[in-house]
Amino acid sequence: MRPIDADVLKELLIETLERIAKMPTMSHEEMHVIAACRMHCEMIDDTPTLDYAPVVHGAWMFTVDHPRERLGFFACSECGIGVGLKTFNFCPNCGAKMDGGKEHG
Ligand SMILES: [Zn+2]
Repeated sequence: MRPIDADVLKELLIETLERIAKMPTMSHEEMHVIAACRMHCEMIDDTPTLDYAPVVHGAWMFTVDHPRERLGFFACSECGIGVGLKTFNFCPNCGAKMDGGKEHG
């Protein structure tokens, strides 16, 4: 599955519809395209949405500058929580995906 922004897709369909509608003359095929765009907009409106949260990308930041953690520790770049010396693929606090940060989003 590839989640997409349904509102952007609908805007693209409406732009296509409006571009054709502004033409001085319309062919039979162009009228079919307008009808298809309207039908697809209705289908998008009728399609149920999924529970979805945007993926937050983060990175583990190693630091030794902590009064209690003499060996140093890793902290999440997004929420700042420290996890000690063992890291995870996701931050256990905020859920950030640890793949290098925003530049990898
Ligand atoms: Zn976090």
